[in-house]
Amino acid sequence: MNPTDDCGRRIEDLGDYLDSGVSADAEHIDHCPQCQARLAGLRSLRAAAMELMDDDVASAAADDSGWLEAMLANLALETRAGRSIPLDGGPLDRLTETEGAVIALVRSVGDSLGGVLIGRCRLDGDVTVAGAPVEININVSARYAYPLPRLADQLREAVMAELLLQTELNVAAVNVAFTDMRPPAAGNGPAAGGSL
Ligand SMILES: [Zn+2]
Repeated sequence: MNPTDDCGRRIEDLGDYLDSGVSADAEHIDHCPQCQARLAGLRSLRAAAMELMDDDVASAAADDSGWLEAMLANLALETRAGRSIPLDGGPLDRLTETEGAVIALVRSVGDSLGGVLIGRCRLDGDVTVAGAPVEININVSARYAYPLPRLADQLREAVMAELLLQTELNVAAVNVAFTDMRPPAAGNGPAAGGSL
């Protein structure tokens, strides 16, 4: 498969598969890295949406349908294969991985930390050139109640460690920005919350 191709499966169909566990297309979905990345993203988005509903049904209904749609659109965009990243497996064995696979990796790191939902992730820099410096720019949706500077440090360190382990990218920086702040869980907000 050409790595810049999108496998063409729609987020909506993957959502149905997530709900029902059955699909005529299951053979493809179960073996397609791109579909697997989309399913993982859908699972974390749904978990976040469920939390919001638990917190405050009224405000979730009023404010968050647009938020969720934007997150879904971004998920579809970022899980496309994207640019090819060269890997040196030896002089005769030049391999590549895709930008989409790296972004899926960053998202899975975010999912492994509590209270973090990665809304957007971009690789800035010429990833198609081996050794070129690349900056990882991550927008995170988090709860007001979480200690944000510590959360940012944890995410930065975890993403950096994972990329060093799993890719050959020359990561110049991992930048974490907090956006789309979600309200604290009902009754758990600190008295002096929201002070960033
Ligand atoms: Zn697929």
